[in-house]
Amino acid sequence: ALPISAASGGARRQGAGATMPYRPDAALPRALVVEDKVKPVQAIIMGGPGCGKHTVCRSLCEKYGMVHISIGDVLREKVRQKTESSDLIAEYMVEGRLVPDELAISIVREKINSPEVQERGWLLDNFPRTSDQAEAMMELGIIPDKFIFINVPEDVLVERCVNRRVDPETGDVYNLKTNPPPDDEEIRKRLVKRDDDNEDAITRRLEVFFEGSDDVLEIFNDIKDRKSTRLNSSH
Ligand code: AMP
Repeated sequence: ALPISAASGGARRQGAGATMPYRPDAALPRALVVEDKVKPVQAIIMGGPGCGKHTVCRSLCEKYGMVHISIGDVLREKVRQKTESSDLIAEYMVEGRLVPDELAISIVREKINSPEVQERGWLLDNFPRTSDQAEAMMELGIIPDKFIFINVPEDVLVERCVNRRVDPETGDVYNLKTNPPPDDEEIRKRLVKRDDDNEDAITRRLEVFFEGSDDVLEIFNDIKDRKSTRLNSSH
């Protein structure tokens, strides 16, 4: 065996003068092995009703593997399951009002602590919506690496909600004008219009959204400057 310094032109793994067999293919001592673990993505996405969040969330989660946490989806599921709180939740939603903060916070707390979400990371959809929710978010230690705001003019949002149709089986979202459903009678027959996509509720939802988003954007100011992405979309 050659002294390591002679064999490798000076590169030493041990102190000067040490001799050991030179085996470039030998495994490194365990202590030197650094695990190349990629940190799961933790992000928040915010945008008014009809801004295209659903589509963006789907493709981001497919690409980066994190779990999409949508309070709206969880609430719609609760309404479908007909629990004792279903009617009350449905009432808030149909009128375009936010459900009470405690309910939204408890949904997020439960979801974010699940082992799957801890492992894969999360994309939190439209939470926080109020300053109380933002405060709870901080207390729960939910700090996103990325904040995405989808910026769409109000008149475009109204138009999109009015023409939105959802496929309850696949979750696909269509727009009768800009993204019509495929020419398939089966699919077209099962499409539904969301209960809160009526004009009164849309007006209220927009009001509520812009009221709350100002507060939330303010709170995110420091993250916004460093790591936020603003997507402008008007068509
Ligand atoms: P979305 O699916 O995001 O359009 O939300 C649908 C409805 O769910 C809203 O109009 C609210 O009634 C309710 N909702 C969604 N996110 C929240 C939230 N963070 N806090 C309170 N209510 C929410």
